[in-house]
Parts: sequence; structure tokens; C-alpha cells
Amino acid sequence: MTLREIKEGRSARVLTVGGSGALRQHFLDMGIIPGTEVTVVKYAPMGDPVEICLHGYELTLRLDDAGKIEVEPISGAVRRSAANPAPVSEHLGLGEGGRFHPKGSGDPLGEGTVLTFALVGNQNSGKTTLFNKLTGSKQHVGNFPGVTVDRKDGEILGRADTLVTDLPGIYSMSPYSGEELVSRDFVLNEKPKGIINIVDVTNIERNMYLTMQLLEMDIPVVVALNMMDEMTGNGGSVDVNAMEAMLGVPVVPISAAKNQGVQELADHAVHVAKYREKPQRQDFCDENDHNGAVHRCLHAVIHLIGDHAKAAGLPVRFAACKAIEGDRLIIDQLRLDENEKEMLEHVTLQMEKERGLDRSAAIADMRFSFIMKVCGACVKKPGESREHTRSRRLDKVLTGKHTAIPVFIAVMGLVFYLTFNVIGAALQRVLETGIEALTVTVDRALTSAGVNDVLHGLIIDGIFEGVGSVLSFLPIIVTMFLFLSLLEDSGYIARVAFVMDRLLQKLGLSGRSIVPLLIGFGCTVPAVMATRTLPSQRDRKMTVLLTPFMSCTAKLPIYAFFVNAFFPRHKALIMIGLYLLGILTGILIALIYKKTLFKGEAVPFVMELPNYRLPGARNTLLLLREKSKDFLQRAFSVILIATIVVWFLQSFNFRFDLAENSRDSILATVSGFITPVFSPLGLGDWRIVTALISGFMAKESVVSVLEVLFGAQGGVASVLTSLSALSLLVFSLLYTPCVAAIAAVRRELGRGWAFYVVLWQCAVAWIAALLVHVIGGLAGIV
Ligand code: GDP
Ligand code: MG
Repeated sequence: MTLREIKEGRSARVLTVGGSGALRQHFLDMGIIPGTEVTVVKYAPMGDPVEICLHGYELTLRLDDAGKIEVEPISGAVRRSAANPAPVSEHLGLGEGGRFHPKGSGDPLGEGTVLTFALVGNQNSGKTTLFNKLTGSKQHVGNFPGVTVDRKDGEILGRADTLVTDLPGIYSMSPYSGEELVSRDFVLNEKPKGIINIVDVTNIERNMYLTMQLLEMDIPVVVALNMMDEMTGNGGSVDVNAMEAMLGVPVVPISAAKNQGVQELADHAVHVAKYREKPQRQDFCDENDHNGAVHRCLHAVIHLIGDHAKAAGLPVRFAACKAIEGDRLIIDQLRLDENEKEMLEHVTLQMEKERGLDRSAAIADMRFSFIMKVCGACVKKPGESREHTRSRRLDKVLTGKHTAIPVFIAVMGLVFYLTFNVIGAALQRVLETGIEALTVTVDRALTSAGVNDVLHGLIIDGIFEGVGSVLSFLPIIVTMFLFLSLLEDSGYIARVAFVMDRLLQKLGLSGRSIVPLLIGFGCTVPAVMATRTLPSQRDRKMTVLLTPFMSCTAKLPIYAFFVNAFFPRHKALIMIGLYLLGILTGILIALIYKKTLFKGEAVPFVMELPNYRLPGARNTLLLLREKSKDFLQRAFSVILIATIVVWFLQSFNFRFDLAENSRDSILATVSGFITPVFSPLGLGDWRIVTALISGFMAKESVVSVLEVLFGAQGGVASVLTSLSALSLLVFSLLYTPCVAAIAAVRRELGRGWAFYVVLWQCAVAWIAALLVHVIGGLAGIV
């Protein structure tokens, strides 16, 4: 029987883990190994995915994946691992116990060497919180080369010779998503002087799996046991000294959110890096476990590949584990010859036979056995923590069968209402008033200074107008991200992904994409920026490409204008129809993408559901600062240039004189050239084409340009039939998003994709509008 057949609330023991490749490795790394007991907590409201509990933490799996895990049912629910009372002892400070050299008598790095640290840990372990506490606001945000994964660097407060890098959250050193690869490569290739491994102590078993692998890196490590406040608050404790002795590295209990122990952690980190104190122990395989099958195999392989690993610059024990697991990347780097490869295979086969588990499972099991031993000896677990009880209660409603989706709609509705009607709108008014006042002042100054007309026009109509209209996005972006970061940090977004996954799975996406897509109905810019939080590169790309199909609010004035002029009796019907058409086209395109551009492997979806936590104000503020900066940088580069170009095209004629009549401008002339392209859509009028082109700057300006070019409303009605108005609406719905959105796409996916979006959206819009025009014509609409 497989895991997907286990009923809610029932438990089972894992027999075999099927699947292959990275996904299977991921299961194993997350603790799903033969022999583990799991409890099915609940199925998502739409029946898929399923939430399971093992070793006291919650994971979500898709049913398809759960179907690959063979289990045998066991009666009754698994109890959380029984408390193994351990003595509580104070943590020894620097130099105590003689292990940390008080006077620095070891082998210190030279003065002036920058102590680089990698901050590594599972997702939601508090990395960002700790990073912000360690570095204050002195941080630099950049990109890892080749991928759009945020890279944050900063120096530890008061230690100018340090540089900490916040890496994407990972569960193991086996690359699984693009982000995980970034983190692993950073540790392996950039060889930081030290690793700060942050461990969520309330989920210690799973978090320590990564620790085991980090200890193999031959790099000094300090382990930070985070969330100690929750642990002790619920009566749990950790014998830190015993744990240090077992792991061979300093272990520091901290609470990043409450800023406890962070200074001590920094001291230890600097110390081990400075004095190159590598982990004292790496040998975690037990000689006596199953007759030492894994132990002997591992040591044999270590001897076999020792010199190869050295030559390749890989830590030997890590390389040996990977070689046994059959990791292609590492085996290639090792450059084993045929004989050695055969020996490796023989040794591994022998181990599999003796251990009764396949290679990957055996290695994962070896690590978890050691973790269980450490936790058994050093960790006194609380019963059920208050936070967990609270999360369970909240989840009854937030992921409940009948309540999840209504709550989600209500939450998103509230976010939209507050963003577009209350907070964002108020900020926008303030900003607009400011810009207007500034414009008026500058306008007067220019006039009184007698600046020539062209320059005057450029400054007031080009730069101020353009940048002003783009800046008006800023309040929306800030407000949107305020709510998003609150929802994300609190743990709600993970639930949304769980609830909505089924729906998006059909499109080849995962539940996480729903949030950026919904934000797309507000504004494409923050929607595209929000895809940053998606864990897989493929999903991120596909989501970015789909957001422009969600009709953004800036298109509403266009709809309103034409609906009022042409279809006063069917206003609501046509508006709703347009939104639906956008969604349906998006779905259609997604299905095409799934079969073509983004074929590849289905996105594996193994996700944890962290306890609900109160988000930290500081994290939120820093995020807002970062996002605004990011947007403003773009506003003042790409967007500014584009605005000036369009202003120029609108204001000048081909002799580069100011165009007296808008009909003579370069833009109008160019529009005239491409007007025939629009004739089949019933839109063969240069003024309409001009308006559409200026809509590339901001969708709102389509209407204002039409009003200028046609005079009053009656003007447009004279050149368009109802049918061509309909095709114009469809075209406006689907054609290229505005320059601000394109700039955001370029930032996420690069220049090539940005061009692709412009052209592709125009093509799709053209075809859809043509279909409307032709079919409408056949149906007798005029
Ligand atoms: P990351 O995903 O590893 O970057 O984790 P974050 O830093 O975003 O933290 C996830 C959540 O845990 C946030 O809501 C934090 O406020 C919360 N958190 C972080 N550290 C602590 C801590 O020491 N104690 C408690 N109670 N909560 C914390
Ligand atoms: Mg983070």
C-alpha cells in the first residue's frame, strides 16, 4: 500500500521510497526514509496535496509523489518523539572548557584577511532575521551570477573585517532547485572562511541533516540553535555542551527575533574562522550499526577517492558520500578511471546488500541515525509547543475543507482593497500632489528664466510627466509588498500554496504561483517582482510570462471609456468578459507552455508548513526598502529613457522641428506606416494606433491620447464600429504590458525574455482581436 491511501489522522511506517533522481533524493533528505513513521495530517481542500507529519514536523507532498512511497499502516497516531530528559547546563563562553583558544594560540589567518561567512540553513529557520540582526542595515543586495536569486552580503556589526552572505534556504547539499544549487556552489566553490549554520531548534531533526553535511565541508562551522525562545518557553531544553562534544563544533543557542545570543554567536564565528578551527569530528557513521555496513563502505570509498578529491578541491568525506549516492556532478569532478569506478560500484553494491537499503537511503539513514542519537542525548523536547497548538487551530480554519478558499479570497480581497483603495491610494495622492507642486514650481521657474520651448517641453512634458506617472506605482508596490511580506513571514503563503496547488498543478505550475498571478490583477510590476519567492527557476519564469494576461487595474480606464461609448447597456457583461478572456487566454498559453517551452520535469512539490509566527518589523522594513530601491533604480534608468524617447517621437516631426500639429509628429507618421497591420482588426486609423503605442508608457494614457487626437468622445465613435471597439478592447487587454512591467520582467528574466514578452503579447493580442473581429462579423455584430 502507498502513502496516498492512508486516511487522515492515520499513521504508517515507510517501507520503500520510489521515484528517481533529484526528487527521490529530496524525499530522503527531508527524512522520508524506510523505517520512518509518518502520520497523514490532512488532505488539501481540493484533495491534493497531502500534509504529513514525521519526526514532529509537517511536510506537504503531492498525491502522485505520495503514491511512490510504499508504507505499512500502523495503528494509532505516532507520538512525537518521547522526551528524553537531559540535564540543562549553561553554555560555556569563549575560552571556557579549554576548547576555544582564549589567547588565539592556534594557526590564525593573517591580519587583514576578510573573514567571509556563509549563512546556511533550512527555509524558515530565521536566516533573514539573523542576517538582519548580525549586519544591522549595512547590507548589499545583488544577484548570484547567472540566476536571479537575491544575494545579500553585509558585515557583522562592529567587525569591519567580516562579510556574511545570506544564502537561499536549503535542506541538504544535494541540489534540487536552482536556489539550492546556488547555496551548495557557494559553499563548495567560494570556500568561505566559516559557515554559520542556523538550525531551527523546534525542528531540530530535519535541520540537523544539513548540519551533518556542512560538517563534512572542511570549513570551520558554528551551529546557531535558533528559536530558543519558543523551545524554552514550552519547557524544552538543549544540553549545549553535550551537543558540542558530539558534533565537534561550537553550538550557540540564540533567538534571532529577540536578539538573544547573537553577539555570542558572532564572537564564536569570528573566532573559529580566524583560527581555522575546523569541525573536530566528521566520522558520523556507526561502526556497530547493521554490522557497520555503511561505515566500512564509506571509509573504503574515502581511501579510494582521497587523492582525486584533493585534486578536485572537494572535501573528501563529502565527495565520498556523493560518490556513493551516485551524484553525477561530483563523480565527474573526481575524474575516476574505469577501474576505480568499478571498485566504487562494487563496494557500494556490497553495502546495499549488507544494509538492505539502496545507496541513497542508506546514507540518509546513517545521517538520521546519528541525529537521533544526538537529539536523544542532548535535547529535551517540550510536549506540544504553544506555537504548534496555535498553528493547528489556525489551520483548522485557514486550510480547512470548507473555509480555506473563502478565507483566501477574503484575505486577498482585503489586501487589494487596502492597497488600491486605502493605504496605497492615500500614499499615491500624497505623492501625486507633491509631484504636481514640483512640476508647477519648475514650470514657473523655467518660464521666468526664459528657457527655450524644446527644453521646457522635455523637462515638463517628457521627464516630469513620464517619471511622475511611473513613480505613482511606488505606493502600490510598497503597500503590496508590505502585505506580501507579512503573509510570507507569518507562514500563510505556504498554506496558500498547499490549498491552491491542485488547481495550478493542471497548468504545470505549483500552488506558490497563485499569489503573483493574483497580484497581476492589481499591477504587473509587483506581480513580477513577487515571483522572487518561488523556489523553482522554471516556475518563476513561467509565472512571470503568465502575469501579463491578468488584466491590471491600469487598463480599467480603457475599458470604461469604450464600454461607455459603445456598449452602455452591457457594461458589466463586457467588463467581466474581458477579465475572463484574459484568464482563459492565460490558461491556454500555460497549457501550451507546459507542452513546449517548459516541458522538462514536473515541478516537485515537497514543502514544509512552518508554525505561524509573528513577522518581525525590521525584516519587513528592510524588504520594503530593498524593493523600493530596486524599483526606483529602474524608474530612473530604463523607464526614464523610454519616456523621453516617446515624448520626443510625439513632439517632433521628421525634420526634427517641434511638430505644430500632432498629425505631423514622428510617432503619428510611424503609426501611419503600421496602421495597415491593424486594418484586419477594424482598427485602421493612425490615431488609434498612436494611442495604443503611447499605452506602452502607461495604459492610462491610451484614453488621454485618444481624447487629444479625437477631441470629444463622439470623435472615436465616428471611426469605429461596435465590433471594432470590441476588438480594440481585446487587443488592449492582451497586448504588451507597460514599460514599467517590461523593466521588471527584464530584471527577473533578462533582456531576451523582456523582448519576447513585448512581441509575444502583441502577437497574441493581434490574433485574439482578429478572431473577435472575424467571428463577430460572421455572427452579425456591427
Ligand atoms: P528564513 O526563511 O530562514 O529567512 O526565515 P525568516 O528570517 O524569514 O524567519 C521566519 C519567521 O520566523 C519570521 O516570521 C520570523 O519573525 C520568525 N523568527 C525568526 N527567528 C525567530 C526566533 O528566534 N524566535 C521566534 N519565535 N521567531 C523567529
Ligand atoms: Mg529569508
